[in-house]
Amino acid sequence: MSLFENTLKQINEAAEIMNLEKDIITILSHPKRIMQVSLPIRMDSGEIKVFEGFRVQHNDLAGPFKGGIRYHEQVDMDEVKALAAWMTMKCAVVGIPLGGAKGGIVVDPKKLSKRELEQLTRRYVDRIQAIIGPDKDVPAPDVNTNGQIMAWIVDEFMKLGNLNKKGVVTGKPIECGGSAGRDEATAQGGVYVIDEIVVEKGIKPEEMRVVIQGFGNAGGTMAMLLAEKGYKICGVSDSKGGLYCADGLDPKQVNACKEEKGSVTECKMVASNCEVCTNEELLEKDCDILILAALENQVHADNAANVKAKMIFELANGPTTPEADKILSGKGVMIVPDILFNAGGVTVSYFELVQNETQYYWTASKVQRRLKPIMVNAWQRVSGIQKKYNCTLRQAAFISAMTRLKAIMEQRGFE
Ligand code: NAD
Repeated sequence: MSLFENTLKQINEAAEIMNLEKDIITILSHPKRIMQVSLPIRMDSGEIKVFEGFRVQHNDLAGPFKGGIRYHEQVDMDEVKALAAWMTMKCAVVGIPLGGAKGGIVVDPKKLSKRELEQLTRRYVDRIQAIIGPDKDVPAPDVNTNGQIMAWIVDEFMKLGNLNKKGVVTGKPIECGGSAGRDEATAQGGVYVIDEIVVEKGIKPEEMRVVIQGFGNAGGTMAMLLAEKGYKICGVSDSKGGLYCADGLDPKQVNACKEEKGSVTECKMVASNCEVCTNEELLEKDCDILILAALENQVHADNAANVKAKMIFELANGPTTPEADKILSGKGVMIVPDILFNAGGVTVSYFELVQNETQYYWTASKVQRRLKPIMVNAWQRVSGIQKKYNCTLRQAAFISAMTRLKAIMEQRGFE
């Protein structure tokens, strides 16, 4: 099944439980606009190479479209459509006034020089400039894109339009109009949700063994934040493979080692009792909490039964397939879904947009003070819906989102 079909399945399942009108499902099943662009750049070798790029704008009923830009060799239209639809749901779960979009370029940025990467980014802005802007569609970083790339986007967009509109993207470096606390926001938002669950269930953090797939912006930060709270981080991974240390590891040391050697798989020496494994093997290691922070479709029909964790937290978008969802629910595994759990990132992106528009910047502690109640309220709302309908947390999160979207459509219409 394609990723967008997975998304439609999730929408339909939740719609059936809440008895949502067919017309609303129909609207939410189709992106509002899809743009596909060719991106020619001159490579350092002198030849011209053409890359393929996408921007999918799923829904803007709640506010301007919002969603990251992914640079990855496996990006395709189907994936970008799914990610855009999840953004619509995510913004509605946390109740921020933004819609859903996503973008991507089919490229492995590690194979480009810095100059080539800058050219490619600026060309992409040139192609999509007519449909982005603070009031239209606001991109952000995603897999393999970062603050530097956002800075080039702001610069190109403002030059092309002769505008001063820093709010055209979020996730910018602080010096270019970024928000304090944005880099940590995705993981921090997830930690606020975990804090609530831990209290509700009477769990002791120091007794929890955690495995984290994906040691990038979201997963790496999550590892540090949980270690600070006393959780035992036993496993981490990156695109080259996993590192599992049964007695625990210090994520700060792993981070320093990864920066020096390029991969966590080169960091066996950071703790005793460590082994290097594949990403697939890491997902099946002994642990209480599994955090998925890499890519989609990582837990699927063929490996779900072997997952030992009792709780799964989705920092990545779409890491669990609908088939795996069923197997894991059958085993009594609690899955806190992406559209709720990783919504801290887009929430602080919204704060960044507000700061850009008002030209008044907040401290990191103010950002955190404002993020926490949004995440806690979203969790409590979703958890209440789950109990009311006796459904999964994913279905509850979709019901929460679609209840908000339905209210807008009923009052405004949907054109
Ligand atoms: P990133 O590029 O900083 O990190 C991704 C990590 O996953 C890296 O460590 C990479 O090596 C690893 N990885 C790549 N392919 C892998 C594979 N096949 N198996 C295991 N690991 C692999 O990206 P990120 O920003 O941390 O995003 C990670 C996920 O979180 C994505 O799904 C993204 O959409 C989602 N997300 C990120 C944010 C954010 O603010 N960064 C917000 C919401 C959701």
